[in-house]
Amino acid sequence: ARKKIIAGNWKMNMTPSEAVELVNTLKPLVANDDVDVVFCVPAIDIIPVVEAAKGSNIQIGAENMYFEEKGAFTGEISPAMLTDAGVKYVVLGHSERREYFAETSETVNKKMLKAFEHGITPIMCCGETLEQREQGVTMDFIRQQVKVGFLNVTADQAKTAVIAYEPIWAIGTGKTATTEQAEEVCKGIRECIAEIYDDATAAAIRIQYGGSVNAKTAPELFAQENIDGGLVGGASLKPDFGAIVNYNK
Ligand code: 13P
Repeated sequence: ARKKIIAGNWKMNMTPSEAVELVNTLKPLVANDDVDVVFCVPAIDIIPVVEAAKGSNIQIGAENMYFEEKGAFTGEISPAMLTDAGVKYVVLGHSERREYFAETSETVNKKMLKAFEHGITPIMCCGETLEQREQGVTMDFIRQQVKVGFLNVTADQAKTAVIAYEPIWAIGTGKTATTEQAEEVCKGIRECIAEIYDDATAAAIRIQYGGSVNAKTAPELFAQENIDGGLVGGASLKPDFGAIVNYNK
């Protein structure tokens, strides 16, 4: 069985000192060894947060990363910088990065390949707009995002990856997708992975749901056959995150 992975995406919130305080508050609340617990935090918070999380079950992720090794790329963060600081996961292709920072599936793919090369587990985000859902092209669009995102990724690498299905209309809106909607798309993503690779890869890869997940909606969502946890925005900054992580208790 796949181990659930419940990740917080802090987005552009928490100064370094606020970050340490939040980790100290959440540390005892997110102790659940049945699931992988990841805090994806702003780059400047990574070092103090890794330190604050020491001795706990919390693993640290970045919210973005560049696809080059090093050099003249002012303002960017390299994979080696992340691993040296203790980062294990990186969120790639979040819809906010696609919308505001010109991220494309092609740049996401370059970052995916780099992350694997450095032993960082990517959490690759995909998801449709409300308009696409209404036009009935949700699965076509997501399949394309997944296919391009995983170009030249080997089956062994893909087995370790995480995909986050985040319908854009559900992000930060308080409008969680219904359990049925979320399960349907996560199942479709798993089928897409089976087509690209094989059944063993599809059975191993972990697929999260994200979009207004809260302590109330988490248990039913995470009980679905194809939903292996969640990527949580707003609620990951609150004690609520403890209840989400302990959804099975
Ligand atoms: P919210 O949980 O705030 O809707 O954010 C979801 C998200 O974008 C996580 O990456």
